[in-house]
Amino acid sequence: MQRWNNFFQNKIDDILLELKNYVEMESPSSNKEAVDKLGSYIQQQFIKLGCRLTRIKQEEFGDQLRLEYGEGEEQILILGHFDTVKDIGTLEQEPWRVEEGRVYGRGTYDMKAGIVFAYFALQAIREHNLPLNKRLVFLWNTDEEMGSPSSREYIQEEASKSSSVLVLEPSYGNGSLKTSRKGGGEFKVMVHGKAAHAGNDHAKGVNAIAELAHHILEIQSWTNYEEGTTLSVGMINGGSASNVVPEFAEAIVDVRVAKKSAMSVIQNRTVALTPVHPEAKVSVHWEFVTPPMERTKQTEQLYRLAYEQAAEEGFDLTEMNAGGTSDGNFAAAAGVPVLDGLGQSEMVPMPLMSISR
Ligand SMILES: [Zn+2]
Repeated sequence: MQRWNNFFQNKIDDILLELKNYVEMESPSSNKEAVDKLGSYIQQQFIKLGCRLTRIKQEEFGDQLRLEYGEGEEQILILGHFDTVKDIGTLEQEPWRVEEGRVYGRGTYDMKAGIVFAYFALQAIREHNLPLNKRLVFLWNTDEEMGSPSSREYIQEEASKSSSVLVLEPSYGNGSLKTSRKGGGEFKVMVHGKAAHAGNDHAKGVNAIAELAHHILEIQSWTNYEEGTTLSVGMINGGSASNVVPEFAEAIVDVRVAKKSAMSVIQNRTVALTPVHPEAKVSVHWEFVTPPMERTKQTEQLYRLAYEQAAEEGFDLTEMNAGGTSDGNFAAAAGVPVLDGLGQSEMVPMPLMSISR
């Protein structure tokens, strides 16, 4: 029985119109005024459906929106962001349009469509008087594309109060949910040596680049594909001229892990890096660490629920692991099960269209 599929198919014109409203209010993370404008529109729409608003004021980024619906001791957190990457004006070159069942326009896929879906799901709940045994808390943040610097703490706080978290980021290409995500991090290795003229005083110099080269190879060797751990030295800087033994060199490294414990192992290893040349100095600075979203027993139970619901609609729901991080990672750090990728798919018509990036 395709009960909900039919319900949403009947609403497709309304859904498209609402999404168009979102997309035509461009909202790059760095433009607070523009993001707040869209935020005000979104909050007004959700309030119309009976949500209670807490607008979390921000100085630098757009205000975060917390919208609560229903009563009950327990809550489910529904997570999404309405900031986008592209600058204001992109809309002019890439206007909103629907062509052959596909929707085009910046921010549709990642992830204005996700918020619009939540809005229509709430409409469905109201129109059918569906009984809810938990409160719904929608947290729409404004700085996800920047790594959620100002919203991270609210995400973690709300997640820790929730029995589960649903993230409306886009699904994987074939419509799969993301039930685990790798964690990530970035660190910098800095080496100080001793400058000297490469011709006259070669022996007196301590070559920082040569020293760094040892550590680059060491760090790359920590990669373990089977365990899902990868390290990639992505940038190097150093030296001032070819005839000067370099005094300084640095490398910036990208780390991905599948398990939290693997990140600790890497962090300990970076702390233990020791100079090969006795006069060189090596130091490590971690820029950030994002914990992995691990697939737990509880995640599996939550996924089964979604799977059964999808099956009733004639849809074979699958799951996968994602290499990239999202706010789902921060939510999962609170120890609650997270289903991510519940938003729009590139290829699977749910409810009936595909949406371009
Ligand atoms: Zn996103």
